[in-house]
Amino acid sequence: MSTVTPVTEHVLRTMAPPEPDGDSKDGRGRVLIVAGCTGLPGAVLLAAHAALRAGAGKLQIAVCRDLAIPIGIAVPEALVIGLPQTDGGGIDKACAADLAQRAERVDGVLVGPGMSEDADAEAVTAALIRGAGEAALVLDAGALVALRAEPDLTRRLSKPAIITPHAGEMAQLLGEERDAIEADPLAAARRATERFGTVTVMKGGRTHVVAPDGRAWCYEVGHVGLATSGSGDTLAGLVVGLLARGAAPEAAALWSVYAHGEAGRRLARRYGGIGFMAREIPGEVPCILAEVM
Ligand code: AMP
Ligand code: MG
Repeated sequence: MSTVTPVTEHVLRTMAPPEPDGDSKDGRGRVLIVAGCTGLPGAVLLAAHAALRAGAGKLQIAVCRDLAIPIGIAVPEALVIGLPQTDGGGIDKACAADLAQRAERVDGVLVGPGMSEDADAEAVTAALIRGAGEAALVLDAGALVALRAEPDLTRRLSKPAIITPHAGEMAQLLGEERDAIEADPLAAARRATERFGTVTVMKGGRTHVVAPDGRAWCYEVGHVGLATSGSGDTLAGLVVGLLARGAAPEAAALWSVYAHGEAGRRLARRYGGIGFMAREIPGEVPCILAEVM
């Protein structure tokens, strides 16, 4: 299938996330974020804020031991779990089984923002994928190493996982040159979906989303100011927040890409162009979602 549908408000309304189930925080979706390392603690914060601004009701954050208290203070809304830590300041694979059990008890799991790319990250991610049960999964950044090592991992899930690579990450994931990815990002997204069975969000100035059934969408009206540190961490947080609220994987991906891009446009208008920060993206999202839904 070669058709690509532009992401418009009309398209989004045909796949709106369901109304929250009842009026409790559990009903609005429980999220688990497994992310960060001592060198990149802020990615956790950005993803966490985005998940809550997307409307998720309850948030757990699992980080390496040294980050637990600072993150708990920075995100007072979250339950924070301090995990055993590697010498390199990442999450130690000793916690993999415990994390997999936690994943079973939430609606959406995000793994990877700010996570070091090493054998421990690979083992932790693989355990979370195997233990996800009914929970919907988002794999970003450091979590993508697990798919490189074992491409079939995501095929056994009850619903497709969502991956959110930028061109460099996609090149590593597929074992191809970055230039080849950038020359035809849609084709790269299709190759990833074929290989991993995922909903693939191929990020860039133009973002392509491909679903396992071959449908494809393109969003190209964001703002160049979104090319800034931490921007992708907020996108991943939005996706898991909407998943936890009950959106289907491709709907969560498309709504997030749109809300992220539109937030960039609004921030650029406010600041007169580039120079807005990733931390400011999540705060724009509730109004954007309310206006489009
Ligand atoms: P990351 O590289 O993981 O921080 O993700 C960057 C985010 O910014 C992705 O959501 C991209 O789609 C978005 N982005 C990057 N470059 C541009 C651009 N030139 N115009 C609009 N959005 C962009
Ligand atoms: Mg990123």
